[in-house]
Amino acid sequence: MSTNPMSVDPARLRPWKQLERDARSCTDCRLWESRSKVVFGEGDVDADLMFVGEAPGRSEDLTGRPFAGAAGNILDNFLGDVGLTRDEVYVTDLVMCRPPQGRRPSADEIEAHMPYLAEQIAHVRPRVIVAFGELVAAVLAGRPLPLERVAGYRFDVFDGVTLIPTYRPTEAVKGSARALTAIKRDVATAKAVLDGRIATGADLLAEARARQSQSDA
Ligand code: SF4
Repeated sequence: MSTNPMSVDPARLRPWKQLERDARSCTDCRLWESRSKVVFGEGDVDADLMFVGEAPGRSEDLTGRPFAGAAGNILDNFLGDVGLTRDEVYVTDLVMCRPPQGRRPSADEIEAHMPYLAEQIAHVRPRVIVAFGELVAAVLAGRPLPLERVAGYRFDVFDGVTLIPTYRPTEAVKGSARALTAIKRDVATAKAVLDGRIATGADLLAEARARQSQSDA
């Protein structure tokens, strides 16, 4: 993401209802041609915790709701494990229209949709974002974050938001025990950051910089 959504002047944001109306009639990328419904984000628009998935799947496209179906059940279960409900968090995707045959969204589709994602982040102002999948993590961090090395790590993005990359719930639905275990762990990590029980991404970055300057001295 090239601009920091947290630094956007709130006066320049579209009102939330307008943002939703614009999205529901949007034709800014080719995905509008194959969608059944626009899958606008859902949940608490003042949430401290945001989840960003890659793209709506078949259930989401049919219902118009993010994280519907089996992937949503996994998210709901792991939220329940840490005492949270879907109503207390905000969930959205990199794009709001389902790519044909469930393929991944392309770079130009993600780019076209970026104003909607950025404005949602700017409105919600989350303290922690859990990124479902390497593509989402890379878009939010602005650099590649290979999951096999950094799933569950805490990064600082947008000057103060903790980004936690993890696997996609759809991988867990398809039987990946590694994805299932990681998602459960990383939802718990997000809650621990919110509760102040472990360091934020910004704290960890400051510690790393302090260590670096000590070793340079
Ligand atoms: S994915 Fe986003 S940019 Fe593309 S048509 Fe849907 S709402 Fe518009």
